[in-house]
Amino acid sequence: MTDDDWKPETLAVRAGSQHTPLGENSEALFLTSSFVFDNAAQAAARFGGQEPGNIYSRFTNPTVSMFQDRLAALEGAEFCVATASGMSAILACVMGLCSAGDHVIASRSIFGTTVQLFGNILKRWGLEVTFVALTKLQEWAAAVRPNTKLLFVETPSNPLTEVCDIAALAALARSSGALLVVDNCFCTPALQRPLEHGADIVIHSATKYIDGQGRCLGGAVLGKKEILEPVYGFLRTAGPSMSAFNAWVFLKGLETLHLRMEAHSRNALALALWLEQQPQVERVYYPGLPSHPQYELAKRQQKSGGGIVSFDLRGGQEAAWRLIDSTRLLSITANLGDAKSTITHPATTTHSRVTPEARAAAGIGDGLVRIAVGLENVEDIKADLQAGLRA
Ligand SMILES: *Cc1c(COP(=O)(O)O)cnc(C)c1O
Repeated sequence: MTDDDWKPETLAVRAGSQHTPLGENSEALFLTSSFVFDNAAQAAARFGGQEPGNIYSRFTNPTVSMFQDRLAALEGAEFCVATASGMSAILACVMGLCSAGDHVIASRSIFGTTVQLFGNILKRWGLEVTFVALTKLQEWAAAVRPNTKLLFVETPSNPLTEVCDIAALAALARSSGALLVVDNCFCTPALQRPLEHGADIVIHSATKYIDGQGRCLGGAVLGKKEILEPVYGFLRTAGPSMSAFNAWVFLKGLETLHLRMEAHSRNALALALWLEQQPQVERVYYPGLPSHPQYELAKRQQKSGGGIVSFDLRGGQEAAWRLIDSTRLLSITANLGDAKSTITHPATTTHSRVTPEARAAAGIGDGLVRIAVGLENVEDIKADLQAGLRA
């Protein structure tokens, strides 16, 4: 039996492991910035690329390599570039693959900071950016230009959990000579493998579910080696590389990924069904609910709904803040993917730098609350919210 035959749960525990002659069972943490050569000729061969091997941890590090290989195995990717954060994964992707004057089409419903990066910072450096509605394929098609290099999506989206048809967008990208980039942060490869549906590149914020316990920042870009060579080149030169310590945390995090994602999904579905029954709740957004507009698509594309549930409260921002402030169990924080359930008011936190018009266009209302459902007993989460809803 080889790695190629292993099932995903086995890959999550075993893929990418490299062991030293010391015989450790748990993968080692190589906390070193540089590596020693046997002699000057070997140093020259390493730098010249004639001999493979480590040189300096901005380029490669064995612990980071193990993490990259394990995540690549899980996504079904040939190549993985680990980065210092999810945002630097997105930045490295654009800096590696685009030049001034190139055009990117991005979904309007992407992570607020990603909107800032594309629409503000990268625009100043000559990147042309068009934002379109995630689920409206005709808007994507109409936005294509001769200089379009990337189509960028998150599915399910943050915070409204809209789902797009990855295969349909991949077909559009192919016929337009562009690459489809999918931020797979919400699902992780345990629930969705975008490359299988035709995407060219997968992005991760490892900070979220890959860590799973809210400890470290990290990110990754995955895809074919030939495509990602310039992304790695940017990273190695500009330096937003993943630290060995963080890679070690993520590597161990991947070992429980499948178990955790199943449990997050189970809790989230139970909570979403319960929220739909509450009179103070106007609408619940969760891809695992039959009332979700893309429920059938989500069922085809994802193994389960994932851990993020959002809902509109009657009573706008006042009601949302009142509910958030009344919780005792849930953590008031914008992070997600933690064992601890977190509660957020997107309009005044994650999406506060987005203009009110853009927020309205993305459907993020003042009464919207997002919960990243953790691994507590869901009855305790319900009880915590119940008290707040009554207040
Ligand atoms: C958090 C997040 C990012 C950014 O990741 P960082 O690790 O915080 O830099 C990108 N995309 C999505 C969907 C996220 O949730």
